[in-house]
Amino acid sequence: MKILNNKQSKPIDFDETLSLARDILTKVLKFRRMVNPENSCDSATCPKCHKPHIDKVSKAIMQKKKITFVLPAFPGKSPNPAKVLGYLPDMAERQALKFLNNLCKQIQEIYEPGAAVIICSDGRVFSDVVGISEKHVTAYQAEIDDIIKELDLTALSTFNLDDVNVNNNFDQARIELVDSYGQDLDGLKDRVKKGGTGSNSPEEVEANRMYCGLTRFLVEDLMHPEQTRSKSSIQKECKEKAYLAIIRSNAWTDLIAEKFPEAIRLSIHPQICGSQKIGIQLLGIETWTTPWHAVAVNTGKEFILMKNKEAKKLNTKLVQDENGRSSHYELISQN
Ligand SMILES: [Zn+2]
Repeated sequence: MKILNNKQSKPIDFDETLSLARDILTKVLKFRRMVNPENSCDSATCPKCHKPHIDKVSKAIMQKKKITFVLPAFPGKSPNPAKVLGYLPDMAERQALKFLNNLCKQIQEIYEPGAAVIICSDGRVFSDVVGISEKHVTAYQAEIDDIIKELDLTALSTFNLDDVNVNNNFDQARIELVDSYGQDLDGLKDRVKKGGTGSNSPEEVEANRMYCGLTRFLVEDLMHPEQTRSKSSIQKECKEKAYLAIIRSNAWTDLIAEKFPEAIRLSIHPQICGSQKIGIQLLGIETWTTPWHAVAVNTGKEFILMKNKEAKKLNTKLVQDENGRSSHYELISQN
């Protein structure tokens, strides 16, 4: 089957388009994050994993447009100093941004219009829930933009709640977001419960995973050395906060989908086979944490992520950037 392209007289072959779309998705899926990878499909060429995304990629190819991805991520640094070096992006974010840009460049090697990742920072969406100050979210977002410019990461751009609501009334922006896109709490609680009791519904499994993951991060963020409350009281509070954060996060997802209908949805969370989202490794290596919950450690071969307190226990030295800010750790060679 031949499809005529109206920009050029040269027809685009349907089978060629499909084959190129598969190759592009395979490049991305090589760096995917899977739930239980050992029990899951084991190949980046898995047709079931390609299926939810193949039409969008094919459509972009036929229109000779960039393949666009959206990634809700980079909210702001965890407020827990046992995990991070400070409230601004550091080497951990730099490495992740460089990886995402490189991934787009790899796609450009086989598809000339290339690819782009729109980082949809969700910091403002739930800063009040996770305990990051508005001031720190603003500074973090600005610094991410600066890094993109400084490192010339031309495939990356950012979009955040401040682009939608420009009045700097953040509480109002969040209320409007949930009013327009939010789901009801009882329905969500029901899906989380079913997802944790052997459900086969990808939506319910995902809801449960998101709930457990978020609760864990929220508890960790509050369990700093100065904390005087009991762990059970913190856990109770974090369970309720996790529901609130999920409602906001899902509302943000829906807004992004409406704003960028042609984009393929990436996620920092592992996904199951055939998911509507592609779980992506942020440093090109499998790591259980994220740049904003951790510090970067240069092992001499690569950068890995770990909690600040863990990096301090190793034979490491702290490295400053050119502005004198703590950037990352370097593992000191034993030789
Ligand atoms: Zn699969």
